[in-house]
Amino acid sequence: MSADHVHPAHDLAERLARADAFAVEHDLTLTPLRRQVYELIVTAARPIGAYDLLAALEPQRGRVPPTTVYRALDFLVENGFVHRIESRNAFVACCEIGKPHQSQFLICERCGDTVEIPGEELAERLSATPPAHGFEVHKQVVELTGLCGDCKTKDHNPDKEHEE
Ligand SMILES: [Zn+2]
Ligand SMILES: [Zn+2]
Repeated sequence: MSADHVHPAHDLAERLARADAFAVEHDLTLTPLRRQVYELIVTAARPIGAYDLLAALEPQRGRVPPTTVYRALDFLVENGFVHRIESRNAFVACCEIGKPHQSQFLICERCGDTVEIPGEELAERLSATPPAHGFEVHKQVVELTGLCGDCKTKDHNPDKEHEE
């Protein structure tokens, strides 16, 4: 881990302020809808999909056309505000906004808890192999599924009831 590692900001206000500052620095327009979608993703405890976002937006904005939300999501992904979890077709807020990076994701298959592990080393090693096969990589996704610490503990503790 590098010395200038920035701690992820867990506080919503802090994360929104960071996103606003990043947008200004990079001349990106965080429209009210984009900002609202970002806020919903930050607030969600688990990766959230487009349809859940649409449902969450409805009380405040009425029915938003899905394409509008998809465009907002594309913007947020392209500019590093959020990451797309391919295996779940859902989105999580980036833990280090403003620092371009490759990430790996640990996804709990029981509760959906998702942890982002930024890591260039693995990404570099992965991208070193394909050219030898004449292969051109367009997208690299590393998602590991399993059980998070909490769910694993429940598994090993028969006294605790399993959540359904
Ligand atoms: Zn990230
Ligand atoms: Zn879990």
